[in-house]
Amino acid sequence: MTPHPPLLVVATRNAHKTFEIARMLDGLYVVKDLSAFPDAPDVEETGATFAENAALKAISASQVIPGIVLADDSGLCVDALGGEPGVRSARYAGGSGDSAGNNAKLLAALARLPLQASRTARFRCSMVLAEEGRVLGAFDGEVEGTLLAEPRGRDGFGYDPLFMPKGYEQTFAELPGDVKNGISHRGRALAKAVEFLKSLSRS
Ligand code: IMP
Repeated sequence: MTPHPPLLVVATRNAHKTFEIARMLDGLYVVKDLSAFPDAPDVEETGATFAENAALKAISASQVIPGIVLADDSGLCVDALGGEPGVRSARYAGGSGDSAGNNAKLLAALARLPLQASRTARFRCSMVLAEEGRVLGAFDGEVEGTLLAEPRGRDGFGYDPLFMPKGYEQTFAELPGDVKNGISHRGRALAKAVEFLKSLSRS
């Protein structure tokens, strides 16, 4: 009889994120998310860095959930704005997850910069794996690009319509999802986390 794969819980209520991670793990783990654990606490992202927030979420969820927990935190860092909006990416314009407001605020901030100012930016992602309140590993991913003066494209979410990754002529909101996932901050951090999980399951 084949043994049951172990459980991995993604500390998110975003089904799209969970699906992406399950696909990369390719049956190595049974992947669930917080929708299967409605009593898991919602953690306030009070950390000063993506890594701190990812660790906060992974540690607190793994104290009440069995198996390995994976948590991530990500956002957009604009070079000419000193790394803003950074950890405040989701709530840059005030309300949490107001993408239209966030993009409008970002465009206004860019418009106030001198004409010759750089428009380079990077998405960053930190992922942390934890079990029973203990961190097993932490992984980072980054993708560099430039910000356009107007949004382009309908796919993706958040700042995607303004972000054109280096080496491409389309924004993250115009590129097919699998192309974005292959080069994105989240995809890169996840690839490292998956390698680590595979090495755990071999040992
Ligand atoms: P989270 O930590 O993955 O929930 O992301 C926090 C915020 O960063 C999101 O609400 C978005 O505003 C922004 N963000 C993170 N990843 C992406 C991305 O891949 N595309 C566009 N915006 C993103």
